[in-house]
Amino acid sequence: MNTPSPALQNLTLPELEQRLVELGEPKYRGGQVMRWLYGKRTESYEKMSDLPAALRARFIAEFPFVRLENVRVLGSKDTTRKFLFRLPDGALIESVLIPASPALYGEASDRRTICMSTQVGCAYGCKFCASGLDGWSRNLSAAEIAGQFIEVERIADEKINNIVFMGMGEPLANFANLMKAIEIINSDWGLGLGARHITISTSGLAPQIRQLADQPKQIRLAISLHGATDEVRQQIMPVNRKYPLAELMSACSYYTTKKKQRITFEYILIKGINDEPAHAADLARLVKNIGGAKVNCIPYNKVEGLQWDRPDEARQDAFMAVLDKARVLATIRREKGHDIAAACGQLRRQTMQK
Ligand code: SAH
Ligand code: SF4
Repeated sequence: MNTPSPALQNLTLPELEQRLVELGEPKYRGGQVMRWLYGKRTESYEKMSDLPAALRARFIAEFPFVRLENVRVLGSKDTTRKFLFRLPDGALIESVLIPASPALYGEASDRRTICMSTQVGCAYGCKFCASGLDGWSRNLSAAEIAGQFIEVERIADEKINNIVFMGMGEPLANFANLMKAIEIINSDWGLGLGARHITISTSGLAPQIRQLADQPKQIRLAISLHGATDEVRQQIMPVNRKYPLAELMSACSYYTTKKKQRITFEYILIKGINDEPAHAADLARLVKNIGGAKVNCIPYNKVEGLQWDRPDEARQDAFMAVLDKARVLATIRREKGHDIAAACGQLRRQTMQK
């Protein structure tokens, strides 16, 4: 299911240079092609006017040009906007553009964040999540991941300065393509966005968290925790059976120590499942072992067809009060884009069901 596409947009600069040399071209053409792709954001090989006509013709004949077709946009300027894309094979994915900074990172508010997908569907089947409802179809290629950034900037006509991999799919289950996409996004020859402005959210793939800690970029990490004991967590997240909390937290410690970075733990508040004050006390105990950890609580965003609900505000406040008293650095994010089904995987499902 993960056949490598020959698209040039899946290559890093050194890989492209090597490919060009194999095609009998000078190495410097690699930089030229990258300037067209990511500097000028050219939409076809035809327009790469400083390349010899024969080379352009060869590119057109041999290398597909990956473009994401925009099917729908929900929301309007200055609000959360949701973009549905059709990929070359017909698969649908979504990206979300969020105008101010999410409460998560708490810095200047002029930033625009894009929430991007990494897979078509998701294999992890968290019980509360729309993305996993129809299972997993395939990994996105690096070009399809980076392409979301390019297309959303183009359509919105705005600069995006922050990326969160919190859309459809489990980013760390598509590790190689994700890292390649981040290379494209992060490099000077690519989109030039700093690694500190990129956050990967994971449901807790412990071995890949360690792998991420061992690579050099200062990418930020968010963990979808949602339960602070194995008992609570595995009720709603099957992945917890494979990587129980002890293993996950040990990988998180490794990440924090290696990167000298703060990890964010995300905790969806689901009524009757994980929202009692005692659950908050468990959560405080758990994250206190991880240096500088931050907790981001998110009241559950209702998904059609699933039985879960968010607790009322009084209960949310009681939960936060316990964290506060335990001196855990915690914020609560009152969901943006609630009205346009902005939680992961929901717009795609609505479109598929029509
Ligand atoms: N697979 C990765 C990244 C995508 S999900 C992960 O699970 O971390 C991004 C975040 O949205 C996760 O924390 C996920 O648990 C959360 N989420 C999923 N469905 C939600 C819903 N209905 N309401 C609120 N948050 C939701
Ligand atoms: Fe997959 Fe993340 Fe949704 Fe779980 S929460 S099903 S890992 S996308």
